[in-house]
Amino acid sequence: MYNPKSKKAEEFIDHQEILDTLAYADAHKDDAALIDQIIAKARLKKGLSHREASVLLACTLDEKNHEVYELAREIKRDFYGDRIVMFAPLYLSNYCVNGCLYCPYHAKNHHIPRKKLTQDEIRAEVIALQDMGHKRLALEAGEDPVHNPLEYILESIHTIYSIQHKNGSIRRVNVNIAATTVENYRKLKEAGIGTYILFQETYHKESYEHLHPTGPKSNYAYHTEAHDRAMEGGIDDVGLGVLFGLELYRYEFAGLLMHAEHLEAVFGVGPHTISVPRVCPADDIDPGEFDNGISDEIFEKIVACIRVAVPYTGMIISTRESQKVREKVLELGISQISGGSRTSVGGYAEEEPEEESSAQFDVSDHRSLDEVVKWLMDLGYVPSFCTACYREGRTGDRFMQLCKAEQIHNCCLPNALMTLKEYLEDYASPATKATGERIIAEQLQNIPNLRARAVVEQHLAEIEQGQRDFRF
Ligand code: SF4
Ligand code: SF4
Repeated sequence: MYNPKSKKAEEFIDHQEILDTLAYADAHKDDAALIDQIIAKARLKKGLSHREASVLLACTLDEKNHEVYELAREIKRDFYGDRIVMFAPLYLSNYCVNGCLYCPYHAKNHHIPRKKLTQDEIRAEVIALQDMGHKRLALEAGEDPVHNPLEYILESIHTIYSIQHKNGSIRRVNVNIAATTVENYRKLKEAGIGTYILFQETYHKESYEHLHPTGPKSNYAYHTEAHDRAMEGGIDDVGLGVLFGLELYRYEFAGLLMHAEHLEAVFGVGPHTISVPRVCPADDIDPGEFDNGISDEIFEKIVACIRVAVPYTGMIISTRESQKVREKVLELGISQISGGSRTSVGGYAEEEPEEESSAQFDVSDHRSLDEVVKWLMDLGYVPSFCTACYREGRTGDRFMQLCKAEQIHNCCLPNALMTLKEYLEDYASPATKATGERIIAEQLQNIPNLRARAVVEQHLAEIEQGQRDFRF
């Protein structure tokens, strides 16, 4: 029985409710009057239910779809301005006891090299990442209680935060590790993590069980209820995601929004981020084996519909996607992207020979961080290395209250400009620096509060003189 407040996975992601939602969406996919009502509600920018958003996703009327895309662009601009937050993944270990059929790290893949970084190797990786200019990392590790116990993850987080190299520092470590206990989430919180991210992969229980035949991850309920345990352990920023291509995208879309509604209903705060990866090629993995692959057009529509359904939730895209696709979805809703990523264990300090690749997936966007930063600015965006909210304790409901009061703008743009300035001073190529200086001068005029603008101008001058780490 569907119940968003239930703590049981099969009740807050109720299969029958999803089927009913899809049937409802099919029945109304060309119902112009209902679609107009839903778009009118979405224009209030307070979000949509999974049913309403599913109707928009199913909609076959070109004119209405066009309105949804326009509204997604408007919400993106209103909530996130021109800012795009930058991050990089850091793979600690690809040892894994699970049997996920879509991932090259699955335990039965005996030909992929297995690696686990030592603390010294982590130092080398972090220095390489700092030398690129990164401030925000997403830690990745397979699930293996022997090779990657929680103590190893905690020690690694400690190592990462402790490294100060030249003007570099990692200021926020987000963590993407397997579902675990409340106690362990508490320890991660104490270690100072930002967001805990866990992809559901698929919300369809039967498919989930087929795709996860072995290992602890095969327990659908334990995995699906992990974000609740993370919240109970004190982590109030959690990230959701599905791997599009494993199941019917409309099913996943409804499940994803039901999960967001569940977090809001139980904890009073929805997900901090939603990631939208698609199945892509990797060692031992052929995306053609999964028959639910989605076209770029559908992918863009999913991004637009998520944007109008959950305006306050950041959306993340990785270098799995090509430059072309990334460009399109940035305007429709994506607010965070990775740049200069390596998806292998130890790939930053030293490039791996292809035949020894330990990568989790093939990267489509191979550009350096500097190239990505320049490209974003050429498109009119402001790449941001901001980590201020987490460091100011603006997490969970405090963060959401600020967003909902529309006060976040008074923090985000100033912080984006100051962190971009740091990047330009310390890491940018001359061409990127020239473009960046122009963007900062233009965007300063968009800080509405004149006092804040003056403070930013002052700090920009201080950054030029060597000071770092200002934030609102
Ligand atoms: S998806 Fe995660 S849990 Fe599954 S095999 Fe890959 S690393 Fe292991
Ligand atoms: S001020 Fe907060 S919400 Fe805005 S970019 Fe920085 S961390 Fe994100």
